[in-house]
This record gives sequence, structure tokens and C-alpha cells, in this order.
Amino acid sequence: MLATVMYGPGDVRFENVDDPMIIKPSDAIIKLSATCICGSDLWPYRGLQASRGPAHMGHEYCGVVVEVGSEVRTVRPGQFVVGSFCLSDNTCPHCAYGFHSSCVQREFMTGAQAPYARVPLADGTLVATAEVPGKDLIPHLLATSDVLGTGWYAADAAGVREGSTVVVVGDGAVGLMGVLSAKQMGAERIIAMSRHKDRQALAKDFGATDIIAERGAEGVARIKDLTRGVGADSVLECVGTQEAMSQAIDCCRPGGSIGYVGVPHGVTFDGYAMFSAQRRMLGGPAPVRRFLPDLMNRVLSGKIEPGKVFDLSLPIEKVAEGYKAMDERRAIKTLLTV
Ligand SMILES: [Zn+2]
Repeated sequence: MLATVMYGPGDVRFENVDDPMIIKPSDAIIKLSATCICGSDLWPYRGLQASRGPAHMGHEYCGVVVEVGSEVRTVRPGQFVVGSFCLSDNTCPHCAYGFHSSCVQREFMTGAQAPYARVPLADGTLVATAEVPGKDLIPHLLATSDVLGTGWYAADAAGVREGSTVVVVGDGAVGLMGVLSAKQMGAERIIAMSRHKDRQALAKDFGATDIIAERGAEGVARIKDLTRGVGADSVLECVGTQEAMSQAIDCCRPGGSIGYVGVPHGVTFDGYAMFSAQRRMLGGPAPVRRFLPDLMNRVLSGKIEPGKVFDLSLPIEKVAEGYKAMDERRAIKTLLTV
């Protein structure tokens, strides 16, 4: 089959690779209904993260099961499924606590920017729907696999609840999903920090009540103005740079919580400053599997439309163009049709 391979920074090709096969008895093979490019795929694309030779790209996926290994019990061929970018057994103690992204058998999904993909640990990773959903729902269901699941985790980790005041740092796809998630969790005030008109509009559509374009100390001052000088109850850090992390910590009130899901690149913490600041922090790769059944139900019942975050749709053979558009910030997130 033809699939997406990254050879190095800026070099993404759609080329012939081996068809995925059942390797372990716990594997499943799915036929992708659609796939997409993640903001985290841009780190190696921009040369900001070392990559070791040609890599099969893609970790966000949904589709129909075509084959399962001999040990797979919970999904069967013909079923529509969504899975997380973190593969998990859903049985170990960490999974039982809801931290599937720290599963003792954890692996990371790869090779999903393709027409077919192998999903290891299928029983613990995949969630099936009762029926094969209509085409119009595919982008929304695909979004639950990572971008929404990650935004949701940021809000969950930041302790968002009914009546909360929330700040979202980062107006990329995950930040926008963080806005949607905070709204679903009943936040009263959701302040999105964004400098881009189109992203500000989408943030408002997803439930942002205020937009702040300023950054750094000026941005923090604006947040303080909006919160009687107190700071926010919950802050979602959805970027992964030192500037974004410092801003997130400074926007939060003492006793408040920061959920951080931007993959840290060069972020460091000052122990004494953290001691004095008195903020709770929880981050890491999102345990999307914990949230998947709930998020898929919200999509299937029409409560949420997270697929609106895809503002560019390309046939998968144009995947290289999709990377370029996101790299140049002409697109927030690229959907690839297969
Ligand atoms: Zn586990």
C-alpha cells in the first residue's frame, strides 16, 4: 500500500510500504475511515526533535476492523472503532487508575497516515460503536482519538468544574479542544489566549467567553484584570514552550491547577518558585482511553462537534502539502481522506 513516511525535517513522502500484518495475537488491523496530521508531528518535521531515519507517521485514527489476532476478544471484523495514540492493555494497575498513557505495556501508535494500520493491544485500546457511523460523523469521531482527548485531559488535569474560571494558553488544535472541553465541564468563564483572528473565532464558537491577544507579562496582567487580581482556577497549557509554561503558571491563582499537555521542549522549573507559587500541576501524554467512551457518546449524540477543528481536508496522497500548510500556519489541523 501507499503510506506516509517522514525521512527527515521537511521531507514527507507518500510511498510504497509493506501492508500491515497481524504480528502479535493481540493485534488488530483496521481500514482507516479518515486520518490526520498532529501538531506533535511538526516537531520532527521542523527538525526540533531528533528522528531516526524514515518513520511511518500517523497516530490518530478511526476505522473499520478488517482482521484480528487470535487473542482479541472485544472487537471483531466489521466493527467501527476509535483508539488512542497511546496503546494500552486496559488491565494493569495504571490503566485501572485511569492512567492508560502510563500502561505497563504502553506503546505509541504509528503508521496511521495510511489506508490500513496495525493496532497493537487491540482489546485494551480500541472502543467500538454499536453501528458503523455516517460519513458526516467521521471527522468528529477521529478528533476524539487524540486532539480532543488531549484537550479534555488538559481540562480534567486542571480540575475544571461547574463555575470555574479557566485560561487556555495556546490556540492550536489542542488548545481549541481545551476550550470545548472546559465548556462541556461547566466552566463559567473561559479565557482563550490567541493572536490569530480565525482561531479566536473558532475558540468563541467552542465556548470561549474572553479572548486575550497579549502574551508574557502583559498577558498575565490582562488575566489578573479579568479575575479581580486573583488569577484563574484552572489553566490549560497546550504549547510546550518555556514562555507558555511560565505564562500558565503566572495566570493561575494559588491553590489552582495547571493541566499541561504541550510536549515540553526546553521547559525547566524553578523549585523554589514552584514552592512559593502553590499551584497543582498534572500533565503528560493524555490517557485518552479513559475518556474515549464518553467522548464518542458526546459526538454520537450530537452534543459536540470537535471535527470543526479540521480547517483543511486533503486526499491522503497530498499529505506532504498538509504538513506544509500546518508548518506555515495556513491550517490549524489537516484531515486526510483515504
Ligand atoms: Zn495498562
